[in-house]
Amino acid sequence: MTVRGWAWLTLIVLCAALAVAVAVLVPWHRPPAPRADQLAALAELPADRVAQARELRGELRWITYPAMLIGLAAALVLGLTPLGSWLVGLVPGPWIAKVLGGGLLVLLVADLITLPFAAWRHTVAVRYGLSTQGWGGWAVDLLKGYAVAAVLGAVALLGFYTLTRFLPNWWWAVGAVGAAALVVLLSFVFPVLVEPVFNKFTPMADGPLRTELMDLARRDGVPVRDVLVADASRRTTALNAYVSGIGPTRRIVVYDTLLREAPQSEVVAVAAHELGHAERGDVVIGTVIGALGAATFVVGLYLLGAWSWLLHRAGVESIAEPRAVGLLLAIATVGGLLAGPAQAYVSRLIEARADEHALELTGDPAGFEQMQGRLSLVNLGDPDPPAWEQALFGSHPTAVERMAAARAFARGR
Ligand SMILES: [Zn+2]
Repeated sequence: MTVRGWAWLTLIVLCAALAVAVAVLVPWHRPPAPRADQLAALAELPADRVAQARELRGELRWITYPAMLIGLAAALVLGLTPLGSWLVGLVPGPWIAKVLGGGLLVLLVADLITLPFAAWRHTVAVRYGLSTQGWGGWAVDLLKGYAVAAVLGAVALLGFYTLTRFLPNWWWAVGAVGAAALVVLLSFVFPVLVEPVFNKFTPMADGPLRTELMDLARRDGVPVRDVLVADASRRTTALNAYVSGIGPTRRIVVYDTLLREAPQSEVVAVAAHELGHAERGDVVIGTVIGALGAATFVVGLYLLGAWSWLLHRAGVESIAEPRAVGLLLAIATVGGLLAGPAQAYVSRLIEARADEHALELTGDPAGFEQMQGRLSLVNLGDPDPPAWEQALFGSHPTAVERMAAARAFARGR
């Protein structure tokens, strides 16, 4: 069999493994609560706040979707015209300099083009009272985000070009394993290394809330080491909590905004949802699916690299040469956009299961419903967004679906 034959075979095996992993690990058969319950829940939310949330989401559509299209167009222009390879060609020096300098240059151009939209989005968030940041803090966060992306991009590009250089025929095989390993590594390292870049964490002071949260975790069989408070109010009024770390490093993180805004029963409901993710191993599920997806992408990249039309458009001879960085960016961007709705769908199913877990653990559907209403309104999310938007981008069930789930749970007890 030829090398390409092996690559095709690997691609088929990986796609099958991905299908099996999704079929086995994702909680299917979870019909949303009845629409009548959803509408009843919606009717109980304050109408003026819902109207304001819809106004904001309507305004954001004029920023988000054009930004997405322009980002895609920029990636396609950089990848499918000689512009990208020309940019990389401007960087002098050996191949490592070309890969790192050229890669950063291409990413920078792509980022700069969507920068005005990010700034526009910030002005809207400030106007609606969602962001508490001035331009200085916003810019610092933006630069930190670029820095994290640049480090990740540099690691990926160096790995890619080192492999293609030393294993010109078989780089895709080692690369698929490496990409999967990188996903696994990141899911462990990210919370520890990257979260502190954006927030400060302090242990929650002893008191009834801390005791109740630690108890909740113990009853759930997912002991946590600590409850931490993140200083999220520096940048946002949004409410959130999450569980991060695995095994002995596991901790509950609560936004200071949540502590300020919500009564204890609702903080407990949020924490119980997050414990649900930990108890069901959702991080591991996400990591397995992500690792298989990354490996599939690398093998697909190798096979796409044999498509001479693509190479010709990009003005390169091989996808493995540093000047093809723009083409890599274009393929990754299109791949990401195509995978997005599938990821969102899987995510919604996993989130619905964590909600169910929270209801069972706390036995307090009223607190859960109140919390969902508050989260949605404080974050100015549309509690009942258009179906197409939810299908394409919704990472969680809608607020009214989650509130209705609490009502259905209360009835079923
Ligand atoms: Zn969740």
